[in-house]
Amino acid sequence: MPEHTPPGPAHPGLYLSHPACLEHDPRAHMPEHPDTPERLQEIERALAARDWLGWERRTAPPAEEAQLELVHSTRHIERIRELSLAGGGAIDADTFVGEPSYRAALHAAGGACEMTRALMAGESALGFCGVRPSGHHAEPDRAMGFCLFNNVALAAALAIAELGAQRVFVLDWDVHHGNGTAEIFRRRTDVLFASIHQMPLFPGTGAIGESGEFNTVVNAPLRAGDGGEAFRAAFENRILPRLRDFKPELIVISAGFDAHMRDPLANLNLVEADFVWATQKIMDVADQCAEGRVVSLLEGGYDLEALASSAAAHVTTLMRG
Ligand SMILES: [Zn+2]
Repeated sequence: MPEHTPPGPAHPGLYLSHPACLEHDPRAHMPEHPDTPERLQEIERALAARDWLGWERRTAPPAEEAQLELVHSTRHIERIRELSLAGGGAIDADTFVGEPSYRAALHAAGGACEMTRALMAGESALGFCGVRPSGHHAEPDRAMGFCLFNNVALAAALAIAELGAQRVFVLDWDVHHGNGTAEIFRRRTDVLFASIHQMPLFPGTGAIGESGEFNTVVNAPLRAGDGGEAFRAAFENRILPRLRDFKPELIVISAGFDAHMRDPLANLNLVEADFVWATQKIMDVADQCAEGRVVSLLEGGYDLEALASSAAAHVTTLMRG
């Protein structure tokens, strides 16, 4: 992990979260569920131990329904709200809504929107949203894979619909394919979506040949057992050239840390240094074409120690890039 370097006063990053994000707890329905509030608490503990890197912390507002409708159907939003109001229940075998979950999901999505607004307004160049529930499996009309609303897709869609961006790059390095994000953007030319993930693995999509209607979806699947060398090669060869050609005005990262070797849900063997390396590569491109603007949002990562140290290393590198 890199040593802490004090940030320059001109560009403190932004950290957004909301206490409601800690209230969503699928263990109320499945006691052994891996998506726990402790995940976010451990990340915040690691960042606090680094004096929050000098970043400004803000409270994530709730997303407005009109914002959610940028990527979700009204029917989907209503379904999550009503299930939550009714006290909660199962959406599928591993996706649960509890009474606090709608509010948590609203603030997670709202954090993505507010972070994007702040960066596009020039209030900072860099931001990390420590929010949950995560979002990248959520499709326009369906919650799945622990995800209710697609936070990262919302950030990209909002930047284009309302904040003047013409091209947004979304990078997903969560170990699971970001099927929801791919589905949301697969017919658009103003969002380039790239995912590097283990395959085969949940949700089963993300093959190298899936490229979207206009070749704006890039998949870099890795095999179980692959480590940093294969990750870096796929990243260099399949993702970076497309990113450089696309010249995005904003970069959004689906930052899951479940490709870490300690993670119980997958079988890649990344370590903190691999997330640092990828972050640095993204920062280099951001500096060249996106005025340094990078929004990063928490997705998966289920080994508490690996998650906290990886997220802290990633955020530290965002600051130093
Ligand atoms: Zn994941």
